[in-house]
Amino acid sequence: MAISDPIVSELANPFALSDGEGYMWLKGNVHTHTTNSDGRVEPQDRLDQYVAKGYDFLCLTDHYTITRVDSVRPPDDFVLVQGAELHPESPFGGREYHLVCLGIDEDMDSEAMSPQDVMDRVNGQGGSAWLGHPHFCAVNVLRDVMPLTGLAGIEVFNTATRCAGRGEAAVHWDDWMDQAKRLIPAIGNDDAHGREAENHDTYQAWTMVRVKERTVEAVMGALRAGASYVTTGPTIDDLALEWIEDSGEATGHFRAMVKCSAALRVLAITNYIGANYDEQGETFEQCTMALRATNQWVRFEILSADGTKAWSNPLDLNALRRT
Ligand SMILES: [Zn+2]
Ligand SMILES: [Zn+2]
Repeated sequence: MAISDPIVSELANPFALSDGEGYMWLKGNVHTHTTNSDGRVEPQDRLDQYVAKGYDFLCLTDHYTITRVDSVRPPDDFVLVQGAELHPESPFGGREYHLVCLGIDEDMDSEAMSPQDVMDRVNGQGGSAWLGHPHFCAVNVLRDVMPLTGLAGIEVFNTATRCAGRGEAAVHWDDWMDQAKRLIPAIGNDDAHGREAENHDTYQAWTMVRVKERTVEAVMGALRAGASYVTTGPTIDDLALEWIEDSGEATGHFRAMVKCSAALRVLAITNYIGANYDEQGETFEQCTMALRATNQWVRFEILSADGTKAWSNPLDLNALRRT
């Protein structure tokens, strides 16, 4: 089948990376504030609290300034990424950017720089810059994102900005992929500012990464490659896709299988018309869905009965059809 306008995918499917090859899931949060900016918890306490909650990796991303990893003491096997949240002004008419910058060592005066210069400096240091909470920032993808090159991906969910009513940015994500014609990975974070006792913006959204090693390089690489998923509660246990060649004159279709924790609904979001699976109010832990032959990519959202949700990264369907 001819695809008139193919998308570009360089993303991994984390569910194809097996335990037998040494892969494991790590839980982390890469957007967190401390008293080094407007957070209300000291860096060491913030780290200790996330460690105590069972997280495997964390990044303290204070506004404008890098909170140095050597200024705190993580446990031996904990992965502490060094980063900052940087805020260049928009030259395109939008609000200032919130760029979650991971793996950087050099402080910069981001307010005085263009967003492209900030990203070039971040990427030049081997880091990655992520578009933070774009719904909260009223980002217009065509105006504010498409002129830039070098963004690693999008923060699809952010707990702190949910407190302000705009926590989820899934439509921005789909819009960006439609316009860029490439698959883009997502992260999800607390963006914690408050104290944990306040229970507003701590331990409610995290990213799971599929890695072989507990290292900064492995975690950053998995995030960039999309070997990950985002969740506020549900686990995704398996995603499998296959091309089904129909008999007769039908064109064929894709079959998607999802295994997850107890779900009330699974959505298959594609480049155009996707699918929904539910069991009329009953929960389930596995489902199979049919996707149209014209679909180019698919990502899944798993909705739980308690209102929590998980977002898979997009998976390429074109490659599957060609095999
Ligand atoms: Zn922000
Ligand atoms: Zn923030």
